[in-house]
Order: sequence, then structure tokens, then C-alpha cells
Amino acid sequence: MSAKHELLTAYRLPLTAHCSLLTAHCSLLTAHYSLLTANGSLLTTMNILLVEDENGLVITLSDRLRNEGFEVDVAEDGEKGFEKASSGTHDLIILDLMLPKKSGLDVCRDLRQKSVNTPILMLTAKGETIDKVLGLKLGADDYLTKPFEVMELLARVEALLRRSPAASNGSSQVSFSFGDVRIDFNRAEITKDDSPVELSAMEFKLLQFLVENRDKVHSRNDLLDAVWGYDAMPNTRTVDVHIAWLRQKLEENPKRPKFIQTVHGLGYKFVSREQ
Ligand code: CA
Repeated sequence: MSAKHELLTAYRLPLTAHCSLLTAHCSLLTAHYSLLTANGSLLTTMNILLVEDENGLVITLSDRLRNEGFEVDVAEDGEKGFEKASSGTHDLIILDLMLPKKSGLDVCRDLRQKSVNTPILMLTAKGETIDKVLGLKLGADDYLTKPFEVMELLARVEALLRRSPAASNGSSQVSFSFGDVRIDFNRAEITKDDSPVELSAMEFKLLQFLVENRDKVHSRNDLLDAVWGYDAMPNTRTVDVHIAWLRQKLEENPKRPKFIQTVHGLGYKFVSREQ
């Protein structure tokens, strides 16, 4: 073994540990990079509407979101919030529950009645549990209890944007092929060697996420958040099982996958070209 090789081997472990930390950190900071088009160009800046009456929180959150590359539009009461949100031009709404003029619950309900389907992240104060449940029933997509860490909010925002139609339909391609597999995203249909392949809804969502974010390494936790969602019960083992099923159904040799690859110590990545 050469001296150089020995040195590399000695450093491999700490390097790997360092990389996985970097990956975890970067996934929070690159919210808008995940919305790249197939050819790699950035579509548009994501636009977030913040409906919140606490001035301090408005300043903290809008500064932080702008630093992350989002455009931020602010409304300080429920009526203005509803008016702005009705335009349907935002990619996400962060909606406080207790607001002057019109409550967050009413804003949420009225938007959904008008078929404005922008994802809504609801902010509730401690002890507003009943409202929380009601909020989800009225069409909020997720909620966060005050006080919260800004990193937590950013993670929720990222997960919601990834799940939203703008991210999964608007910016992505209609079909994708690899090996002898062809995916029609709009019809959620997959063929291998021109024969239909049956995938469960979660297998399809996982495959779609991997393909849309191909050639990047995703940790099991990132995949859980992006595909299953934050409040889902499954653990990281669930990811492994679904990956195994996808390989079984799509890879020529599931034991030596060409496309759905394991990156040891880090997670999985979809490799778009045979290597
Ligand atoms: Ca409030």
C-alpha cells in the first residue's frame, strides 16, 4: 500500500462524517436550488407570503427568508393577507392563526373555498391545539407552534415547496427514461421493456423525487421529509425498503443497481446515465 493510499484510508472515516454533516446543512440552505428545471436553469425565485401581525417576528422571518433567496411579501392582518393570497401568485403562505380583522382559520378556509391551493404553513401559539386540528381540516398543509427555531421553519418551508404542485408538476418534465424504463409523470405510468410496471403511490413519489433531484446524494432523513412528509410515522428503514422494491421492479439486476445507487454512509442517489 502506498503512503498516499494509506493516508487516504486513514482520513476516509472523518471525511465521510464531515460530508454527511455538510449534506444535512446544505439541504436546508438550498431550498430554491431544488426547483431547478431539467436543463439546470433556475425557473423563478420562490415567492412567500408572510401573514403575521407580530412586528418582531415579521422582521426576523422576512430577513431570514430573503437571505435564503426567497422573495417575501408581507401582510399584517387577515384581510390584507386574504386579499394578497387570493391572487394565487405565491408559492407558499406562512399564516399566523391569531390575526387582526380576520383570523388565520378564516383566511385558510376562504382561500380553499376560492380554490386557491397555495400550500399553507400555519403558525399557532402554544395551547391552540384545537385550532391546529381545525386548521389542518380547513386546508392548511402543515403547522408550527410558537416559539420555534428559524431552522425548523425553513425545513418545513422546504418540505412544503418540494411537495407542492409548482415544484413537482410546473417545473418538471413530463416524461423521463433510463435504461429500458420510461416514466410518464402526468399519468403516473411506468413501463419497462414496454410492459407496464405497477408501483405503489409511495414508490412512485420516491422515484419521482429521486429522478427530479438526480445525481445528488440524499440522506434517508431528507428522503423521509421530502417524500413521506414531516408528520409521517415511518422511520429511515422505510426508505430502505422502498428503495429495495424500486430496484426489484426497475433495475435489470437489483443486487447491482445501475440507477438507484447507494452512497455508503450518506444515503441514495439516482444516477441518470449508466456508468
Ligand atoms: Ca398573531
